[in-house]
Amino acid sequence: MNIHEYQAKQLLAQYGVAVPAGAACKTVAEAKDAAEKIFAAGHKLAVVKSQIHAGGRGKGTFKHGFQGGVKLAKTAADCVTSAENMLGKTLVTKQTGAEGRVVGTILVAAAEDIKKEFYLAVLLDRAVSKPLIMASTEGGVDIEEVAEKHPEKIVKEHIDPLIGFKDFNGWKIASALGLSGDLAKQAVKLVGAVYKTWWECDAAMVEINPLCICVGPDGKEKLIAVDAKIGLDDNALYRHPDIQAMRDLAEEAPLEIEASKYALNYIKLDGSIACLVNGAGLAMATMDIVQHFGAMPANFLDVGGGASKEQVTAAFKIILSDPNVKGILVNIFGGIMDCNVIATGIVAAVKETGLKLPLVVRLEGNNVVAGKKTLAESGVAIINGDTMSDAAQKIVKAVGK
Ligand code: GDP
Ligand code: MG
Repeated sequence: MNIHEYQAKQLLAQYGVAVPAGAACKTVAEAKDAAEKIFAAGHKLAVVKSQIHAGGRGKGTFKHGFQGGVKLAKTAADCVTSAENMLGKTLVTKQTGAEGRVVGTILVAAAEDIKKEFYLAVLLDRAVSKPLIMASTEGGVDIEEVAEKHPEKIVKEHIDPLIGFKDFNGWKIASALGLSGDLAKQAVKLVGAVYKTWWECDAAMVEINPLCICVGPDGKEKLIAVDAKIGLDDNALYRHPDIQAMRDLAEEAPLEIEASKYALNYIKLDGSIACLVNGAGLAMATMDIVQHFGAMPANFLDVGGGASKEQVTAAFKIILSDPNVKGILVNIFGGIMDCNVIATGIVAAVKETGLKLPLVVRLEGNNVVAGKKTLAESGVAIINGDTMSDAAQKIVKAVGK
């Protein structure tokens, strides 16, 4: 699950990371109110930021032509103009795809006087089974581009999970960023706090881009997280009801939300052959073999190890609500699952949905003979696939490419 920038900043602030003062607004009136408070407090500049689950907002463009999903404003009236051009409008960035995202919330914050922008992230390095802190002096811009063209400009510090973060890890990062004196001390504390946020929230990734040296009204330099992104590990969400409450369904694909209600693992793709499979490994292999025989999968769908008839029916409905689907390939290996339960589920689903598209079913494993008998005697048009490769070829042929 992903959360918005303003929510990520709330979590980071709880762990002691400095973030700009601001308010999340859903209406122009709220934005006006927030902006007036910022200027009344003596700030000279405010920033209005579109809240969507995608980066690259600063350089993005709205579909109605308004430039920039992040706008600086010198007056409350400027903030209102930006709010009017963002709320309810569709923002297209490098990360949203051409369809863009509708902005439902904006963050109105005091704009910082930025002197330098860094990059900082914490994630899990699966290759060495350790948490990894990444930092770079090349902040603000696309980190993917830095990684490609100047990999030497990204410093990596692994953390031993049994020891945890120690100040010396922070000092190494601070020195790699060229910080000294008080700023280096601030960096040690800040990196430790970001690491703690990552660890205690069970985050998959915490990314701060840019992390900035800002000059306060008193002339003092301060390290502030100007942008923040947090992705969470769904498997650990049950431990964090407060974070679960931050879920924004408007940011998620409707079919994926429907699938999650039935504990189905569904991800929509662009092809024409829908796949209904049990087990993530078999689902990936099925997608591969569909491509091998010249067609593209319409989705990844794992119904799990012990799917019920209700889940299979729900899975068919979800698959069929994608207009790109031209045929369905069911590939089930009955280990825990009884093939006859699946066969009964398939027959019921086909009847209930009035399926007209070609359907190839390959069943193997536990109680397969009874399962095939159920399919054969059902009277519904099902093409039998004997092996995975046979089934894939048959569905590709039936769909006609
Ligand atoms: P992103 O484009 O989605 O990554 O959004 P960011 O929050 O990173 O904003 C993009 C850029 O806008 C930053 O790299 C900054 O240069 C600028 N920006 C964002 N907030 C502020 C601010 O408070 N003050 C100033 N001066 N610039 C800001
Ligand atoms: Mg950013």
